[in-house]
Amino acid sequence: MVLNTVLIIGGSGFLGCHLVDRFAALSPAPAIHVLDIRPLPAIPPEFYSFDPETIVFHKGDITDPSSLRDIYRAVKPDIVVHSASPIHGMGKEIYYKVNVDGTRAIIDVATEPEFKGIIKGLVYTSSASVIYNGDDLRNADESTPMPDKQMDAYNETKALGEKMVLAASSADFKTVALRPSAMFGPGDRQLIPNMAEVTYTFGTRFQIGDNWNIFDFTYIGNVAHAHVLAAQKLVDEKTSQRVAGEPFIITNNEPVYF
Ligand code: NAD
Repeated sequence: MVLNTVLIIGGSGFLGCHLVDRFAALSPAPAIHVLDIRPLPAIPPEFYSFDPETIVFHKGDITDPSSLRDIYRAVKPDIVVHSASPIHGMGKEIYYKVNVDGTRAIIDVATEPEFKGIIKGLVYTSSASVIYNGDDLRNADESTPMPDKQMDAYNETKALGEKMVLAASSADFKTVALRPSAMFGPGDRQLIPNMAEVTYTFGTRFQIGDNWNIFDFTYIGNVAHAHVLAAQKLVDEKTSQRVAGEPFIITNNEPVYF
């Protein structure tokens, strides 16, 4: 079965715009709807190949179940992709409100009886940080347990969100969680700007460890592609059983050495 309609929550964000781009590149392309608290940004044409005129934008907040319900009713998506989150460095309260309460609302409203048989699944953008316990992670994979205590409120609420999403997976509503690590690429407003800030403020004069630590940076297009594959698998009865209820770590093939 092909995807007819996809609703991308957080679609105005860095990853969100690449999700739109990748879904729009499918043949046939599904109808693409974006739900976000802020409008789609002015899209630099060299970054993306989709036509912004073909994307339907819905202003909405995932912490408001009634606005979610109205948008689900209007859009009737086969698959919801949830990549909304506050950015790093915010207070605990906002992470709980959006990543826990908001994620719960996305699930609860999608599983209301009126959407049975319409919304078939949810692809959740989790984070590789949900298994980070402060120690080196060597050869970590999806069997690596989450730590009892997360490092910060962002990781804690991403982990809680992921657990809720995967626990909600059922025959009628199938879910997948994707765990990218730090993402880079066109449109990035966190990673490279923050690294540049460290450089400009002479933060690089300090070294922690022996300088041989490696960290996973993943190209944004690969992360978006993983979401498209997950959505396609979920919407197809034949393949959905293989992925439903599972988390997947998303990386580039090779580690990046610094
Ligand atoms: P981003 O801030 O660029 O995009 C997030 C979008 O979510 C924004 O457009 C924002 O307006 C929207 N949003 C926030 N609160 C909302 C709400 N209450 N209702 C509706 N929309 C809301 O962030 P990003 O870097 O593109 O990250 C996308 C996803 O990927 C997030 O879930 C994040 O946790 C995850 N992630 C990011 C990274 C990274 O390196 N940036 C790494 C791992 C996982």
